[in-house]
Amino acid sequence: MSRTDQTGSDKRLKLEFWGVRGSIATPESDKLRTGGNTPCTVLQYGSEPLVIIDAGTGLRLLGRQLTSPETDVLQASILFSHFHWDHIQGLPFFGPIYSHHAKLQLYSTLKAESLQKIVELQMNPPFFPLPLKNTPAVRSYNQTPTRGCKLGSLTITPVRLSHPGGASGYRLESPAGSVIYVSDHEHGNAAIDDAIAEHAAGADILIYDAHFTPDEYERSYKGWGHSTWREGARLANRAAVGELILFHHSPDRTDRELPTILADARLEFANTEIARENQPILLARDRGLGAQPVTVKQRRA
Ligand SMILES: [Zn+2]
Ligand SMILES: [Zn+2]
Repeated sequence: MSRTDQTGSDKRLKLEFWGVRGSIATPESDKLRTGGNTPCTVLQYGSEPLVIIDAGTGLRLLGRQLTSPETDVLQASILFSHFHWDHIQGLPFFGPIYSHHAKLQLYSTLKAESLQKIVELQMNPPFFPLPLKNTPAVRSYNQTPTRGCKLGSLTITPVRLSHPGGASGYRLESPAGSVIYVSDHEHGNAAIDDAIAEHAAGADILIYDAHFTPDEYERSYKGWGHSTWREGARLANRAAVGELILFHHSPDRTDRELPTILADARLEFANTEIARENQPILLARDRGLGAQPVTVKQRRA
């Protein structure tokens, strides 16, 4: 969301996770250092309107920040990977949909009418007391073309993922750097995996579904639609990305387990991180060094 009074002098790409947990929110003390909200990832180039990927429970807190009294006009785009509960449950609690000043562009790879039907359905009785069509924000429903589309300075290109009922990943290319979002996805379909690797080629950041450990996956969870850090590292090496961020943590994964997972993953792809709520990452191109991206990490205490 941009405020109308912003000047746009900052030409960096900011990436921030407002929800990193898969399947269901986990308000449990042994998981909160990583984060208990379900998927909600936000990108902003300079001071342009936000591009939000998925509307998990993390969207509620983002909305609270955006609907401050001094905000004049709110604009944002929301890209949906798919419509499982963990990716949509924040939408009814996203403050801007109740604002007369908000303009929201909603995107998926489905036809615009199908997207509208699905998004409205979740707020119809008996699921929710206030139907979305009765809320004041201006909304548009859009199908992301296979060849991609522009949202401000960002170019958004979808890629098909392997997940029950279907899902889409997105590559977001900005003048300051590129990010590819691959959640929810199960590796193993060669044609789909090849297309993902092609879309991911050379991206600065790969956000990847690391819901299961390799052991959990092999033992019990083949066919559940999720992947592992090992497959993330494999893809990161294959596509020569700059950084791998492990995302969509299992609701059973505790904060104590993640350092071991991270250490294991770094043996296979050194520049790996764990997705955590509210730890922004800034990407900027260092023009003095040609096209080399520079990752400026700004970690909050
Ligand atoms: Zn999910
Ligand atoms: Zn899913």
